[in-house]
Amino acid sequence: MKLPIYLDNHATTPMDPQVFEAMRPYFLTKFGNASSKNHSFGWEANSAVEHARKQIAKIINAEPNEIIFTSGATESINLALKGFAEAYCSKGKHIVSSVIEHSAVLDTLNYLSKVGFEITYLSVDQNGLISIPKLNESIRSDTILVSIMTANNEIGSIQNVKAIGDICSAKNVLFHTDASQAIGKIPFDVKENNIDLMSFTAHKLYGPKGIGALFIKKKRQPIKITPQILGGGHENGYRSGTLNVPCIVGFGKAAEISNQLLSNENERIAKLRNKLFQGIVSQLNGVNLNGSLTDRLGNNLNLSFDGIKSESFILEMKDIAVSSGAACASATTKPSHVLTAISCTNEEAKNSIRFGIGRFNVEEEITYTIKRVVETVEKLRSISPAY
Ligand code: PLP
Repeated sequence: MKLPIYLDNHATTPMDPQVFEAMRPYFLTKFGNASSKNHSFGWEANSAVEHARKQIAKIINAEPNEIIFTSGATESINLALKGFAEAYCSKGKHIVSSVIEHSAVLDTLNYLSKVGFEITYLSVDQNGLISIPKLNESIRSDTILVSIMTANNEIGSIQNVKAIGDICSAKNVLFHTDASQAIGKIPFDVKENNIDLMSFTAHKLYGPKGIGALFIKKKRQPIKITPQILGGGHENGYRSGTLNVPCIVGFGKAAEISNQLLSNENERIAKLRNKLFQGIVSQLNGVNLNGSLTDRLGNNLNLSFDGIKSESFILEMKDIAVSSGAACASATTKPSHVLTAISCTNEEAKNSIRFGIGRFNVEEEITYTIKRVVETVEKLRSISPAY
């Protein structure tokens, strides 16, 4: 077993070596521009992109022409929300979302609220789930879009996406979901769940960073999205810019591998997560599980330890990479908006530690982590005047 141990797989996942091998030729020999129509270098790159589009579509049961490549989930979310809002503002200016969304959604909605849109943010219960009846009540005649994440990046809560999709479809409102943490981790079917728009990203499923996708459902009445990046009209005009062929190939390969491994991998990882949880709570008092163990990603554990600040914990456990919240919020000292939304006090929210288990973690690492967590908490509590 090698140290440090990586247990921050919600922030990003290590690239699968098979993914890297699939990408390698597209940096070196197969370097063509996928839009070059006049020679074999361009055709080769284009066919690699189209193959990847099929691999990615398959993992969510979409059609390849429903996948638009972007630079990551943040860009997909911006394109979906701003692009949709701009295209449909004459129909209505009301959007429904939730309080526990990722900052990519919250900040984009905040921008839209400044340019005249009204946003309703649904609260969540202690398990991090929205209320389906409340969602139903919140949809008005001027509501144009519902944007609710599939799985949360801090506490792993998985929403009842099917129920949300059914309500949106019945009320003729479009449904966007940020599925960045879910794709490759839970089986997902955009058709069955009535999804219209979905944002996701390669680096959460053992693919490269800097590449993502927006699923746009093909409907009889096509969904209009105003492009946010203009130029050569790539990706059917939705997103201009020379395609990042090596990363697209890597995203495709990562999706294919995740599709093959999904059910066995999930089960194995959930067992490791449960072992970690049981190992910690059986040896320590004053450990609070943030969220519940049901309706939760199998790779996620979020705990608060009474009397222990997450910064001290993390400093003391340098041999294990865990996190005190979302990677993009690590620079702020504000308590997590997700944890306060599930009724944690500011103190509990500041004392929380997120463990994210992934494909390359093994049982020995979990056994070691349990030992280190117990030692660390006991040591910090023994020197804490507050405990
Ligand atoms: N949405 C969620 C739920 C995430 O966890 C992340 C990544 O942290 C993002 C969006 C942003 O993804 P990207 O890094 O591809 O822009």
